[in-house]
Amino acid sequence: MPTVEASIAYKHENRLVQALRQAGLRLTPQRLAICRYLSQSKDHPTAQDIYQVLKPEYPSLSLATVYNTLETLVALGAIHALGDAGDDATHYDANIDPHINLVCIRCHTIVDLPTPTVAQLEHEAEEKSGFRILGARVVYYGLCPECQRAEPRGNGYHD
Ligand SMILES: [Zn+2]
Ligand SMILES: [Zn+2]
Repeated sequence: MPTVEASIAYKHENRLVQALRQAGLRLTPQRLAICRYLSQSKDHPTAQDIYQVLKPEYPSLSLATVYNTLETLVALGAIHALGDAGDDATHYDANIDPHINLVCIRCHTIVDLPTPTVAQLEHEAEEKSGFRILGARVVYYGLCPECQRAEPRGNGYHD
């Protein structure tokens, strides 16, 4: 039974596939799988994450293919590269609706917070600068509620 979430994921997947086609990349099963994984994931995966999940099903997949597919999608504004989450790895976001990404520097979780303020800001930036905005990295760093509970205030960092 198709859920609302599934149809949103499908819409994102279509958008990514169209972008690759537009860039003239061959739509190999590997690249299609990357698009599907990105559009279904809410975890802001890294290239490594995507590679490890898809490798068993697509043994011919290379990390280079994952990287160049991601880079092409970023260059077209189809996905956003968020930079690292305190873990030295770039995280990717297929959700290009304006939102704030809340990054936990302790467990490296990234949570989306939709807010109309980001859209207003983008609009304002375009109006004032003449730039056409292709992407945004709106990232706030901090400790998620769970990590705050695990680590009482003032205790510093202990592993
Ligand atoms: Zn956390
Ligand atoms: Zn996000």
